[in-house]
Amino acid sequence: SEVDVNDVVAAVVDSMELQLQKRNAAINLNLNAGKSIIYGDELHLSNVIYNLVDNANKYSGEIPKINISTRNTGKHLIIEVADEGIGMTKDQTKRIFDQFYRVPTGNLHDVKGFGLGLNYVQDIINQMGGTIKVHSEKDKGTVFEISLPLNHN
Ligand code: ATP
Ligand code: MG
Repeated sequence: SEVDVNDVVAAVVDSMELQLQKRNAAINLNLNAGKSIIYGDELHLSNVIYNLVDNANKYSGEIPKINISTRNTGKHLIIEVADEGIGMTKDQTKRIFDQFYRVPTGNLHDVKGFGLGLNYVQDIINQMGGTIKVHSEKDKGTVFEISLPLNHN
């Protein structure tokens, strides 16, 4: 079915207010994709956004700074979730989409997790015909970029 990505992003961030506040997170939304309708499942896409924002919030220091943006290239809808958190090395980023993989030093604040979130995220995005990429630098931050095919109409 048709899903408005900007609406989904806004709703997910709204629903996470308490857990973001708990960590004093600063959230910046740049929903620049004018038209953001894609074909997919709204619940699954919500879970995808939730997992990325949850990670950005968890794997950051004192005050998480999270930037979420959307843009429309004409062919693809791009969703970016960026943080200025603990980051990862190249070798670590290669493994984060594997089931049960967690970066050993990711437990700075005793962060709990199963290492399943990103495996699910990649599965869903691939099922929607999209791709997900990650860029990360240790102690600098991490950016996840999702690209989804736009509906033709
Ligand atoms: P859960 O199953 O609850 O999501 P998780 O967060 O550990 O558990 P993933 O979301 O799959 O699992 O992430 C895998 C690992 O990748 C994390 O344990 C963490 O080490 C690393 N990671 C994920 N996102 C980030 C990020 N934004 N910054 C730094 N490290 C990250
Ligand atoms: Mg996670």
